[in-house]
Amino acid sequence: MSKSSQLFNKAKNLIPGGVNSPVRAFRSVNLDPLFIASGKGSKIKDADGNEYIDYVGSWGPLILGHAQDEILEAIRKAAEKGTSFGAPTEMEIQIAEKIIEMVPSVEMVRLVNSGTEATMSALRLARGYTGKNKMIKFEGCYHGHGDSFLIKAGSGALTLGEPNSPGVPADFARNTLTADFNNADSVEQIFKEYSDDIACVIVEPIAGNMGVIPPDKGFLEKLRQLCDHYKCILIFDEVMTGFRVHPGGAQAIYNITPDLTTMGKVIGGGLPVAAYGGKKEIMEQVSPAGPVYQAGTLSGNPLAVAAGLKTLEIISRPGYFDQLNKKALNFFKSTKNLIKKKGWPLSLNYVNSMGCLYFKAGGVSNFSDAIQSDTNKFADFFGQLIERGVYIAPSQFEAMFISSAHSEEDLDNTAKIIKSTLEKIL
Ligand SMILES: *Cc1c(COP(=O)(O)O)cnc(C)c1O
Repeated sequence: MSKSSQLFNKAKNLIPGGVNSPVRAFRSVNLDPLFIASGKGSKIKDADGNEYIDYVGSWGPLILGHAQDEILEAIRKAAEKGTSFGAPTEMEIQIAEKIIEMVPSVEMVRLVNSGTEATMSALRLARGYTGKNKMIKFEGCYHGHGDSFLIKAGSGALTLGEPNSPGVPADFARNTLTADFNNADSVEQIFKEYSDDIACVIVEPIAGNMGVIPPDKGFLEKLRQLCDHYKCILIFDEVMTGFRVHPGGAQAIYNITPDLTTMGKVIGGGLPVAAYGGKKEIMEQVSPAGPVYQAGTLSGNPLAVAAGLKTLEIISRPGYFDQLNKKALNFFKSTKNLIKKKGWPLSLNYVNSMGCLYFKAGGVSNFSDAIQSDTNKFADFFGQLIERGVYIAPSQFEAMFISSAHSEEDLDNTAKIIKSTLEKIL
């Protein structure tokens, strides 16, 4: 038995399912998870000493790759000065300035420790600011594990939703309304029905938790218009897309100004940092400036902020995104051409350095398209890639991330492995 499988068996007695976050358990690909021993640059090594080219990147944060030298140095320097104070530090001002400079809609920002906290806090703020209760979200988008977000659509477009985890009171479902991604009409209908009690619309401007689904032309514009019309808050959940698809996030690509933005993943450079920010008038409602309560013992932690700030500085250097995107787009475009040439029943979606290969023909533009994918074929694909040293997320519905640590050689080798694997299994 491999060392990873031995460790997994041991972990299952101590940690629920053997993991500290469910998708890590490899359930949907019917394998034991790999236990990771180390990472450097584009590569990781498992507990058995096998090496992989890594396209998970800790689920998005590692845009610079693993154990990047400047990040390590920043963390080391910060650690020597003390790991936590629970008091303000100057670096928190620097990272706030940097975020505000980079993200067009953000005038004021509060740091938290995870994307889940960022979205929960942004939702509370939207409710506190508007005095309204309901939220519209989209089927297939993910906003962390807060109670209000773990609600799935009920049957029929206008009915209320239902909890998708035990432990979430059905009462929460009354305030969470679910629309279809890339379908602004479905949002408009909900607005018409509940117009006087909708506090906010929350959306991943590029959906990254049902694979990768870019917004159709006009979809985000229409959300902005509806929110203006009904005086409700538009929240862009850019926990995945922020500092990833563009230095200013998806909002800079599509040129839409949300009222609030949630950020995470890349913002911490691999350490736990997340944030929510937006219009000053709204953010000033957060305590202690205003009455909407939100707090955190380790928020703005010096090690985490040091890693995050250094990451934001590095990706702001001239040419950084041009180079990363060029490399990534070459890879995705040539894979897409190959699929077309071969006539394979696959769809490849991508935006700059994030992408998803769906085992489904004919394109994917919303949740109901995505779930038509052949997840058994995906599991075959995944298993073969692991055998051949390529590590992608163990689920059809996750993005793959290319980092600036991936070399042309890494990408060429990966393209070859993907091609021969697909030839074998399709
Ligand atoms: C990852 C993610 C979250 C949750 O962030 P955590 O740090 O895992 O709590 C929220 N929203 C989006 C869009 C994400 O991709």
